[in-house]
This record gives sequence, C-alpha cells and structure tokens, in this order.
Amino acid sequence: MSFNEIIGHKEALGFLKAAYESGRLAHAYLFLGPAGVGKARTARAFAQLLLCGRPRGQAACRACGSCRKVAAGQHPDLKILEPDGEFIKIEAVREAGRFVGLKPYEGRRKVLILDPAHAMNEEAANALLKTLEEPAPSTVLILIAENIHRLPGTVVSRCQRVVFGALAPEDLMTLLVERHGVERPAAAALSRLCDGSAGEALRFYEDGVLAQRDTLLRLLSCDDSMKEALAQVPDRQEALRLLRALALWYRDLLALRSCGSPALLMHPAGHAALERACRQMETSAILQSLGVIAQTSLDIRRHANMRLAFEQMRTQLWTLSHR
Ligand SMILES: [Zn+2]
Repeated sequence: MSFNEIIGHKEALGFLKAAYESGRLAHAYLFLGPAGVGKARTARAFAQLLLCGRPRGQAACRACGSCRKVAAGQHPDLKILEPDGEFIKIEAVREAGRFVGLKPYEGRRKVLILDPAHAMNEEAANALLKTLEEPAPSTVLILIAENIHRLPGTVVSRCQRVVFGALAPEDLMTLLVERHGVERPAAAALSRLCDGSAGEALRFYEDGVLAQRDTLLRLLSCDDSMKEALAQVPDRQEALRLLRALALWYRDLLALRSCGSPALLMHPAGHAALERACRQMETSAILQSLGVIAQTSLDIRRHANMRLAFEQMRTQLWTLSHR
C-alpha cells in the first residue's frame, strides 16, 4: 500500500507529506482517530516512504530493496510493536528502546510503530517515555490510538498529533468496491451504516450481517420462530451488529414516513420493502420498535440469554407491526 493510495484523510496525509518534503520530521507522531479508518495502513505506508531508497516525490518507489522488505515485514530498520496477548509489555518496549538507540542498519532512519499505543500498560508507557525524552536523531516513532484518554499525558505531550476522522461515505464506498471487491449495492448500504469505519464495514460484510438482517426481517413479518436467524448468530458481538442493522432499517422507515422520499435512506436498495412497511405502520409504532431494539441490545450487552432476548423482541416487533 503506497502512501498515495490511501483513500480519504486528505488533511492528515497532506500534513505528513509536507513534513516529509520539508525534511522537518517530528521525532514522534501520534495517529489519533476511530478504529478501522486506516491509521495503521497509513503508518505502514509512511514508514515505507521514510525508509525507501529511491522515493518518487512524496511516495515510496515500492520497487527498491527497502520497499520490498517493508512490504514483506522484514525490514531491519522497521519495528512494529503489537500487543502480546492483551498488552504491549514492558520487555517489548525496552527492547524497542534498544532498537531505536542503534544506528540504522540500511538507510538513514529507523521507524518504530506502536499499534495500538493504548495497549501499553503503565509500566510499558513509562519505559517508552525514556525513548521519547532522549530521541535518537534518525528515529521516527508512530503511536496509533483511538483517543488520547487512554494514554498518559506525558506520552501524548511528546508527540506530534495527526488526527484521522471517520471516512466520508463516498470514500468508504470506493474503498469497499475497489479494494475489497464488495458489490455496489452492499457497499452503498455498508458505507452509510458503519460510521465511516472500513474495519467495521468489512466485519459487517464478512459476517453477512445484511443478509442476516433480511432473514430476520422476513421472520419478523410472519409469526414464526427465530430459530433460523439465531442459528446464524454465533456470538454477542455479531448479534449486536445485527441489531444495529435492524435498527437502521427502522430508522429508514421513519425517514421515509417523515419525508416521503428515498433521498435520506441509509439502505436505498430496501426502498420497495420499506414502502410496503410504511403503509402498515404508524410513526409511534416505528419509534416504539426502535425502543424495543435498543432494549434488546442493552439486554444482550448485559449478558441476557440471547435466544430469549431475540424471541421477546420478535414478539414485540411483530405486535407493533400488526396493530
Ligand atoms: Zn523504495
């Protein structure tokens, strides 16, 4: 993945490119932003550019020995610290400190990525401070985190912040279709469903959440058991995603009922089915249905019996759609 192929994040990329071009790189960057928007990808692409032996303007060449080693995860001047179990441990941070203290093996720089930096426990973060306080001149550190609240202030204050926002729906759509081969109608629904997170959209897609939701909707429309839908929902996280997708269907119903036009629909492909449902349900029943789904999500988060929670929800939703 070249630095120039990252989708979205114009400001963050512009900032990093300008720093690269001017030669005034910070010693440490903190990439901040929601999960699944491309921070880690950008960090790896930036590392490739920083280590490239024959950069072309503001992009790594992707052909030199250095670029190939980065792509293969085998560059001796690039280290990526990831959690071992739940945490990035102090031993790993100490070892990384020794790594950045040495001269580069091949190029002009060494790059250390912490992904995610908030996986460091307090001890590990303190060990990292030493590296941040006494920077080796040729080192660039990239810390990745969703927000600053889970990092010690002493670490945050020593880093240059680079903020990544949620991906715009059109950027997410491009990414899903072009990079991941998602069919356009599904990509259109996912890009509006997933709060600008490619990671979340791909989880939805891979779990088949949209198909499951449609099964669920069919089951809701008849007085039948939830067995079929539940058989495909193996765990709570997936059940919660399914409930979110279901809530968005009712949200679409509400939008269609209030403004009568499909312009505001999150899932335009569902327009015909929504039109039919719209004729049957009053606004108050739609709002109550959203309440039922929210309560079910809460119950499942609180570890209620999933089968029971879904059955209860089904009965309530069926009643609301048939009164
Ligand atoms: Zn190169």
